[in-house]
Amino acid sequence: IDPVEHVSEVLERLRRWEGEVNAFISLEAEEVLLNAAEESARRWKRGEARRLEGVVVGVKDNISTSFLPTTAGSRMLDGYIPPFNATVVERLLSEGAIIIGKTNLDEFAMGSTGEFSAFGPTRNPWDLSRVPGGSSSGSGACLAYGGCDVALGSDTGGSVRLPAAYTATVGLKPTYGLVSRYGLIPYANSLEQISPMARSSWDAMILLDVIAGVDEYDATSIHFGTAAEGEGGLEPEDLSFCIPEGLVEHSEEIVKRAFYNTMGELEGLGARLEYISLGGVESYVLPTYYTIALAEAASNLARYDGTLYPVRGRSGDYWRQAAEARAKGFGLEVKRRILMGVYVLSEGYKDEYYLAATKLRRIIRDTMLKTVGKCLVATPASPIMPPRIGERVDDPLKLYAMDIYTVLANLSGLPAIALPVDIRGSLPIGIQLVGPRMGERLLVGAARIIE
Ligand code: GLN
Repeated sequence: IDPVEHVSEVLERLRRWEGEVNAFISLEAEEVLLNAAEESARRWKRGEARRLEGVVVGVKDNISTSFLPTTAGSRMLDGYIPPFNATVVERLLSEGAIIIGKTNLDEFAMGSTGEFSAFGPTRNPWDLSRVPGGSSSGSGACLAYGGCDVALGSDTGGSVRLPAAYTATVGLKPTYGLVSRYGLIPYANSLEQISPMARSSWDAMILLDVIAGVDEYDATSIHFGTAAEGEGGLEPEDLSFCIPEGLVEHSEEIVKRAFYNTMGELEGLGARLEYISLGGVESYVLPTYYTIALAEAASNLARYDGTLYPVRGRSGDYWRQAAEARAKGFGLEVKRRILMGVYVLSEGYKDEYYLAATKLRRIIRDTMLKTVGKCLVATPASPIMPPRIGERVDDPLKLYAMDIYTVLANLSGLPAIALPVDIRGSLPIGIQLVGPRMGERLLVGAARIIE
């Protein structure tokens, strides 16, 4: 296909859907997009096409771009234009990608539904009265209506996998360190990864291949081996799945049924299934995640003190200026999380909360590492169907409970993929597979069998 024609079609869909869906916080000018498409067309003609030549990409708005504002969904950063591109953005551009815009998200990536954005909620193209999942809500939604070909999200505790489950797309959270976090506005550094989203697991893998690998600007980044094992040639008989029954129990009936149907079909095709227990992990995985994530968040958000970024206080006194800026710039959920994060880190409480959570994290990680050594851990991606807008937003505990399956991978640094398996009453249902360290190709191989 001709890149110019392709970009014009994407723009057409954007005009049809974007007003209702609100997937983007900022969009690149049409003229710039069409010029880029013409350049791609020339390269195709000359046989000089790069790996993402003419591919239209949506980039989550907590990933820095020097050519479009980067707000992280927060009033605090309204209008902020970073002086540099994130490493992943540099890699996209150098492979010929066309970045169409910055996608909507829960403020600072804190949320599971996309409703906590200072720029208004994103709606689910499958059912406009429902959420598309968060926090990478805009990336999932733009994929679902065809406003982009692939997208980047970030995943701290499930933020590409919930939107994937709710929009019938694919979200692939890589092994910790595989993708540079340089230029990602941080929420919880020890948990998160910039992560590809796409309409198929193969596309997600291509995107991962472009963005992964060592980066001198991120000391935690690691080398990604080139395409080899696990690619293409996997058969169902090569696969073993472990099903943590006690954990799957936390899903509503319709989700459970879709999940077990899929696993049953895989078994019919020759895959091995094993029913396992994760040793009681289910009861403390969420408190462990939220304790660690909020502690790191409180520390990361201390930089917004009213002196550097767009929202400033007026008072001359530093502390009052900071307080004014933070009162104005942060939304309710972000404030709630800062308070909880500061609390679990404070003198007299940190042993009981933060340090206890780091110990539990080690137990969870050890359990998961042992398990993925012999099988892929399969669960639903979300315990519930996509909620209606407004349905859960007032009850933080209900919101946090949506992450019960996804946070396991982040706490243990393991790769995980969410992919669609069923549609019920026009609403998608997704499952999740967690694999061994650096097992992305294996996960995609398994996903391709399920797709
Ligand atoms: N819902 C989780 C949270 O709010 C995960 C968010 C994310 O992965 N960025 O912390």
